[in-house]
Amino acid sequence: MPRIALLPEHVASQVAAGEVVERPASVVKELVENSLDAGSTRIEVSIRRGGSGSLRVVDDGFGMDRDDALLCLERHATSKIRTGADLASIQTLGFRGEALPSIASVSRFRLATRERGALVGTEVLVNGGRIETVRDCGEMEGTQIDVRSLFFNLPARRKFLRTEQTESSHVEQQLQLQAIGHPKVGFVFLNEERVVFQLPSGQSLHERIRDLCGATLAKELLEVPEFCTDDIGVRGFIGRAGLSRSTRQQQIVFLNGRAIENVTLNHALREGYHTALMKGQHPVTFLFIEMDPAAVDVNVHPAKREVRFRDPATIRESVVEAIRRTLESDRGQWSATFTSKPADSTSSPPVPRPANLPHAQALPQETPALIPQREQTALRRDWSTLPLQPTVSPLPSAPASSPPAFAPPSAPPQGARTEVQPSLNSQPSTLNQSLPPANGGGTFKLLGVLGKLYVLMENANGLVLVDQHAAHERILFEEMRRRMEQQGVPTQRLLLPITLEVSPKDSDWIRQHLDLLERAGLGLEAFGPNTFKLDALPTFLRPSDPSQLLREIIDDLREASIQASKLRLGEEMIAKTVCRHAVKANDFLREPELVRLIQDLLACELPYCCPHGRPTMIQMSYGELEKKFGRKV
Ligand code: ADP
Ligand code: MG
Repeated sequence: MPRIALLPEHVASQVAAGEVVERPASVVKELVENSLDAGSTRIEVSIRRGGSGSLRVVDDGFGMDRDDALLCLERHATSKIRTGADLASIQTLGFRGEALPSIASVSRFRLATRERGALVGTEVLVNGGRIETVRDCGEMEGTQIDVRSLFFNLPARRKFLRTEQTESSHVEQQLQLQAIGHPKVGFVFLNEERVVFQLPSGQSLHERIRDLCGATLAKELLEVPEFCTDDIGVRGFIGRAGLSRSTRQQQIVFLNGRAIENVTLNHALREGYHTALMKGQHPVTFLFIEMDPAAVDVNVHPAKREVRFRDPATIRESVVEAIRRTLESDRGQWSATFTSKPADSTSSPPVPRPANLPHAQALPQETPALIPQREQTALRRDWSTLPLQPTVSPLPSAPASSPPAFAPPSAPPQGARTEVQPSLNSQPSTLNQSLPPANGGGTFKLLGVLGKLYVLMENANGLVLVDQHAAHERILFEEMRRRMEQQGVPTQRLLLPITLEVSPKDSDWIRQHLDLLERAGLGLEAFGPNTFKLDALPTFLRPSDPSQLLREIIDDLREASIQASKLRLGEEMIAKTVCRHAVKANDFLREPELVRLIQDLLACELPYCCPHGRPTMIQMSYGELEKKFGRKV
């Protein structure tokens, strides 16, 4: 007796629906994608009871005639591809012809559609997959779809739905994503007849982000300069260094207009941000990647969220590069204040910059370009000849030209410590006095040090706080990275070399990375199968227990090497090592050292955060102060 039978059509649809229609938000996704594919300029979505009560999508797209209105409810009926070969060049969001029949099979469904210019439209009522009514209707041009009682005939699935509030927030999130992906299309979202957002059509991407995510976030974004390599285009906005989130919710990437998730891209974003991102945090991105549809397979995931790249390395490289360039070009935030009027405590506070203007727009000409590395080195040399008296002389083995930033300021004897340095209060030092003219003259005025850690400064916008420890880490990190990329890090020979016994696994690892360790200033030599001799350390490291330090470095490196390329691996290690051995929070710095610290920091490529992504400087504008003191609402 045969055991196999073909499933009836409506059961097959329900099975397929299980994959496509997970919850109200996935229905909204499919319907809105159809509206976008239909060339709509305005899409309205309204939901009740989290979308499982009712859900309605209305668009002004090109609509369907009666034949298509019936055909679109058949499984595998689509207007978007014709042959298997078309799968390689998909330009539309949909292509499988599965969404409408799936949704209609698990709900009470109404489709009303009218082609542009047609005299009448068509209305189709479907109940749990069975077409019940087909008739003329007089609806507006475009398409309306009503989905009521979702999963009424699939109680098991209905049970999996979360609270109405959770479901509606998923819907909202999904719609926000679509709205960001298509800023030229107007979107309206109503929940229980209350307007949640209403976005006009024809917006720019920045306007769309501002309207959806708020002016504060929009202000913290940097525009990615249009970046194209190997037929891959990358554009959009990304959060400036130091801006991050604990979830991936605002890590948004569109590929050829489709919001996607992809592990390669996640790694690329992380690598692009590199030290500008705190551990465990995720970047904020609104990135648009355009590439040849043939080079990417979108037919991987039922909801088409995941994609597979034919050449992941190229796409990764393009994204890393685009992000890195964008972050490095962001020197406007602080250096722009160099070009405004010097801070003067007797004059009235200047009018703060309008809050909703992104920095890039507010300061187009004033923002000096990224200082090339060669010039930065030159600047450092200049500073080392300034009449500032560093208390720390370069370590004996360091080359004579070694920039002072490499020598960590050492703590003075205990008795010399005071809470606030009187010299700073009585004789405020203005950094612009000592800045090289190449920077256009500075405007930071040193006010003092708070809690032996935070350097207080004044600039044209108000108060600036610098975390001494984070600043020092950033300076050391960049200096060391530069040295590694060039001739290597200056080292100091140990008087007595240390022998280290390691596990066979560690031994393998060290052997593979001996050249990298050497460039980082760690002089290691194999001495036996699992034994190494350590005879040199970077000049600025003076660990009490070098073998312990080495073990820590190796552990750190292992962790970092999981995803990173070899060069990045080196930088990662430096960041971690330097952090642990940089100036400690309570180290006391005298005024000239502070001045130099700030100067060195401002000359960094990414001055605003430490190698672990924590901020180095915080600006408290006059506007914020006025708000805090209740002078302004
Ligand atoms: P797919 O989008 O994968 O083609 P769907 O089941 O989502 O499959 O839709 C089937 C077809 O119905 C689409 O190919 C399209 O021709 C038509 N269609 C669906 N929604 C709309 C709409 N809002 N406006 C115009 N045509 C639509
Ligand atoms: Mg579709």
